[in-house]
Amino acid sequence: MTRKQKLVVIGNGMAGARLVEDIITRGGADQFEFVMFGDEPYGNYNRILLSGVLSGTHQAQDIFINPLAWYETNNVKLHAGARVTSIDRVNKIVIAADGVTTETYDKLVIATGSSAFLPPMEGLRTTTDGFKAGVFVFRTLDDCEAITQYAEGGKRAAVIGGGLLGLEAARGLLNLGAEVHVIHLMPHLMEVQLDAIAGATLRRSMEALGVQVHLNKATTAILGDEHVTGLQFKDGTTLDCEMVVISAGIRPNVQLARDAGLTVERGIVVNDGITCVDDPDVFAVGECAQHNGMVYGLVAPLWEQTAVLADRLTGRKPQAEYKGSKVSTKLKVMGVDLAVMGEKQPRDEHDEEVVYTEPLRGIYKKLIVRNGKLAGAILLGDTAMAPALLQAFDRGVLLPENRAELLFPLTDQVAAKSAAELPDEAQICNCNGIAKGAIVKAAKGGCRSLKALCDATRAGTGCGACKSQVQEIFEAAAGDTIVEDPSIHYYVPGVPLPKPELIAAIKEQELKSVSAVFRVLAVGKEDPASKAGLASLLKTIWHDGYEDERDARFINDRVHANIQKDRTFSVVPRIYGGVTTAAELKRIAEVAERYNVRMVKFTGGQRLDLLGISKEDLPNVWRDLGMPSGHAYTKAFRTCKTCVGTEFCRFGVGDAVALGIAIEKKYQGIEFPHKVKLATTGCPRNCSEATTKDIGAVAIEGGKWEVVIGGAAGSKVRKADLLITVDTHEEVLHYMGRFMQYYREHAKYLERTYDMVERMGIEKLRRVLVDDEEGICARLDAEIEAAVAAYVDPWQEAAQPHHPSQFVNILPKAEADAMLSQISKQPANYGD
Ligand SMILES: Cc1cc2nc3c(=O)[nH]c(=O)nc-3n(C[C@H](O)[C@H](O)[C@H](O)COP(=O)(O)OP(=O)(O)OC[C@H]3O[C@@H](n4cnc5c(N)ncnc54)[C@H](O)[C@@H]3O)c2cc1C
Ligand code: SF4
Repeated sequence: MTRKQKLVVIGNGMAGARLVEDIITRGGADQFEFVMFGDEPYGNYNRILLSGVLSGTHQAQDIFINPLAWYETNNVKLHAGARVTSIDRVNKIVIAADGVTTETYDKLVIATGSSAFLPPMEGLRTTTDGFKAGVFVFRTLDDCEAITQYAEGGKRAAVIGGGLLGLEAARGLLNLGAEVHVIHLMPHLMEVQLDAIAGATLRRSMEALGVQVHLNKATTAILGDEHVTGLQFKDGTTLDCEMVVISAGIRPNVQLARDAGLTVERGIVVNDGITCVDDPDVFAVGECAQHNGMVYGLVAPLWEQTAVLADRLTGRKPQAEYKGSKVSTKLKVMGVDLAVMGEKQPRDEHDEEVVYTEPLRGIYKKLIVRNGKLAGAILLGDTAMAPALLQAFDRGVLLPENRAELLFPLTDQVAAKSAAELPDEAQICNCNGIAKGAIVKAAKGGCRSLKALCDATRAGTGCGACKSQVQEIFEAAAGDTIVEDPSIHYYVPGVPLPKPELIAAIKEQELKSVSAVFRVLAVGKEDPASKAGLASLLKTIWHDGYEDERDARFINDRVHANIQKDRTFSVVPRIYGGVTTAAELKRIAEVAERYNVRMVKFTGGQRLDLLGISKEDLPNVWRDLGMPSGHAYTKAFRTCKTCVGTEFCRFGVGDAVALGIAIEKKYQGIEFPHKVKLATTGCPRNCSEATTKDIGAVAIEGGKWEVVIGGAAGSKVRKADLLITVDTHEEVLHYMGRFMQYYREHAKYLERTYDMVERMGIEKLRRVLVDDEEGICARLDAEIEAAVAAYVDPWQEAAQPHHPSQFVNILPKAEADAMLSQISKQPANYGD
């Protein structure tokens, strides 16, 4: 048997991981031993969906294409969280930042992608380290998390850059409740993809959504000493803001290749074989590669590149060649449909320009026709014709004489037929590079539901713009064999049971650990995406009797603090009802000074957040504070916000403070399928906003309290529904507890209270929780009391860590900082 060749891939992003997949699909697992380095500490995720994570339409754990288990299953050795710092091409060795981790190679692939471009401006960084507090870029999952955390509570935010990525960041911030300003250097938005009229149309649509757009503005400085207070522009004007997201383009990560002596221009120069021009055993794919003078900043070209390279490496098509990509995009910008392909302006007077505009509805369509063929198109606000135009563009077909046929679906039937009539090679899902033929094959090959088909092919799992086309093709191909996908009812994707059946099975078979659940109920197949949800459910069922496997928890839950962008942690001690004392405040101030806390901030829930604490310091900080955990990092009872109520307010009719403290003391730290925020308010003026909390209590005339449930004031705004009106604090606590237990038992993992309340309807909830229609109230009450009794403050682990390395940094700070400072400083592509 011949020795396997060792293939090392630097960069575990969309191109690197796809290449390994492409090689495996071509049978290359028999030929290669795979080793990957990725400086993000995760498996490979769909970077395109970061926009969805930021705007709240996707959960971080749902965007993984290759979770860590995938690497294990496919015998791919992954150095996660390891950055390669040098390549020794003579001895064929790569060396990671710790200087210890090294790997030899036979073939080396560089897939290091890009970093955010930082335009020159003052005040970007603090004198000590890293960005000034409140400055962010938008490139990774960690960036997303850091932006989301910082934006909490409704900030005034500026986005520098009015390109695609900047507008996506703006949408995310808007959904997070921020007041959003987009600052753009150019005279119109998205000038790389759009012409001036389309840019102006898009601007109107953005403004209608609430984004304030500032054009022709060059930012010269970020103002503020320790944290962002505003922006200074070249024209002398300023803008007050509390945070800024820089999204002014990207630069390929090429330093590693340059240091290794490879030819680098804007990107790492490769030939038609995707091979570096200086070394036949080194290859570059994705955003870091430059082919024929082009560096691409979109995913579609990298699917073509990895396919060619996989064909060559496996010998399936040793002569395969990459001839460059025709770039087209179909996506949603802040919810506005957009499709762009080819050129945006006529080249000369022989080119024909066909334009249709409907400014009031935000619709703009433009075609550039050259020699009877489509040379370019912009479709904004209405992309119904995009699939047909993309076909015409890709295949260079002659267009019909009547150009209107290209701009409008003439009848519904014509539009409806179009996707199903496309040829098999037509690319449907640009994000994942899936052609129609693959969808039809999956539909005919046994996928009986749209979800099963999307999971099997990945079609439609990117930006989602092609979902309706995928469905149409699926329905046409699968016909009446389609069935409803049962998995939509599962509590977590990896265990095929709806929540009530899952709970019953766990109880009946006395399953007390996540691995036991997988073993017994999922034929031993562990699903990383399901672990945190199962851990939460097991705690709900067994209270302190469940087996706590820490690998089933997210990092925040392992160290009981909130991880930040720079890998420090935020610590929020519990302050019952938001009422503190001078002594407590002094202690907090002393801790802040002792541990050089970079920022002390009030949270939206009236608590104090100490930001910038290193992982090693966490136990000492908790000990010195002498206060319990505020659980600001996890899916649990967060805070009970209070107004001043009867004690001081002349309008107060109920003691909101005493009630808030009692609620918080009783239910602190109880785990839920998602975070739960509460408030009590002393009269219907509602100063603590109880009617937009998950659970609230509102004092009304006559000494009564209204218990309300299912409110929201985040990416979704919803007024809470009245569950019951009661007379005493004890009754408020009682009904709140009953609802909490019901939510713990009936919500899907990560379903917020407001979604569950809407799903079930308040009438039904009243019948079950007040009228006891199902006879379960006594049990619910007993279960929540048992959960309360089992509660242990997690910060007690300061005295007795769960395991010796619990508070040891796996990724040293120096390495984390180096990762951040690696952001390169060269001219733009994606996000321009
Ligand atoms: C928010 C956002 C939205 C986007 N939306 C779209 C869209 O709608 N449509 C579209 O077509 N494209 C979109 N893109 C662009 C698309 O995501 C990229 O084109 C694609 O991710 C490029 O893949 P890549 O593998 O080349 O780089 P990446 O996916 O960036 O992967 C590179 C990986 O290499 C790692 N790495 C870098 N240096 C080292 C080193 N020295 N050692 C170890 N690891 C290293 C990086 O940390 C990273 O994980 C979007 C990008 C972002 C950020
Ligand atoms: S909600 Fe009513 S009682 Fe509470 S502070 Fe406002 S006005 Fe006063």
